[in-house]
Amino acid sequence: MAITRAECQALDAEDPLKDFREEFSLPPGVIYLLGNSLGALPRRTPERVAHTVETEWGVHLGASWNTAGWWDLPQTTGDRIAPLIGARPGDVLAGDSTSVNIFKAVTAALPLRPDRRVIVSDLDNFPTDRYVVEGAARVLGPYEIRDIGGNGGSLDEALDDDVALVLLSHVDYRTGAMRDMAEVTARVHSAGALMIWDLCHSAGVVPVEVGEIDLAVGCTYKYLNGGPGAPAYIYVAPRHQEAVHNVVSGWHGHAAPFDFDPNYRPAPGVRRFAVGSPPVLSYAALGASLDIWERVDMAAVRAKSVALTSLFIELTDALCPEVALVTPRDPAGRGSQVSYRHADGYPVIRALADRGVVGDYREPEIIRFGFAPLYVRHVDVYDAATTMAEVLGGELWRDERYGRRLAVT
Ligand SMILES: *Cc1c(COP(=O)(O)O)cnc(C)c1O
Repeated sequence: MAITRAECQALDAEDPLKDFREEFSLPPGVIYLLGNSLGALPRRTPERVAHTVETEWGVHLGASWNTAGWWDLPQTTGDRIAPLIGARPGDVLAGDSTSVNIFKAVTAALPLRPDRRVIVSDLDNFPTDRYVVEGAARVLGPYEIRDIGGNGGSLDEALDDDVALVLLSHVDYRTGAMRDMAEVTARVHSAGALMIWDLCHSAGVVPVEVGEIDLAVGCTYKYLNGGPGAPAYIYVAPRHQEAVHNVVSGWHGHAAPFDFDPNYRPAPGVRRFAVGSPPVLSYAALGASLDIWERVDMAAVRAKSVALTSLFIELTDALCPEVALVTPRDPAGRGSQVSYRHADGYPVIRALADRGVVGDYREPEIIRFGFAPLYVRHVDVYDAATTMAEVLGGELWRDERYGRRLAVT
């Protein structure tokens, strides 16, 4: 094998991001390669949430809507997410789930192209993206949904002058393949359509520049470590902000909510995408994580992400002939995850978890490993690959305990 465990330890010793690992509570004996699904717990999150519960809620009660800034959390949190996607403060609003934000984004964008009747989606999109497009088409339609990916043809074949918008993921949740956002956006714009990007698997691990894109959505519980169910976000390009409407026109997006006006008037800017009362405890947890992100150099994150994923591919190429890589080998073409196909992928993942290596399984036959550069070390990559070699080479996954499906795979 090309690299030794000691060499991995040496790489960790000179890693410019190495101190960030101390910012996280990681259970002993676990190599956590699932930060692409649920990011690890920042060490300061429990005290931040406890402060919000015990002091802001317990002592100051309803006054905290003003004094603790609860009312403005969707905007102030959005302002803190903005730099992570190359956006300006004021152009991002945090709230709701990604699915709900996709609905808000698609239904806001379609009326900007009133004469066009096609929505382009991707069969390889995370299913919720595709489901929500169907729901939006049902509400505002009729719309034709034209699918690319899978066996559905290419983007260029799908684009014509009837396409209103295109919704794609920047990084594919299953394979980790990454699209060139600027190049695809330019192609979509030259067909006269709008471009919405889903950034769930890129924000916090790949430098993202919203550039010319029209709208974007993303979540904060994956690489951003905001905690289970943390608020998602929506970005709207400044040129569209006064032209778009939130179909979920709730009171938090009203221009003057405390006028209790019976008629809806949208707030200026992205604030109109607020809907109802924000889950304040979840924002508190996300806030503790964003404190870390303020100090992170994304170029260093990307460099380490490429190093870790390349190392894992190199090691498994040498040690694990039983699996087939489905992630692009060219680092420029992938995010921060490495995926393989294995016919018995589910029991393989369970057997690995039993040995402290946590990845996950996605239909069909895909095992995924996410590499979060703030807390995953080169030595973890080494140990994960050698453990995978033991599990595959010794067929340890054949133990019948590993075959029974749990609700969440
Ligand atoms: C994780 C993920 C989602 C999740 O949507 P939620 O509504 O937040 O559960 C959506 N899209 C993509 C591409 C994802 O990776």
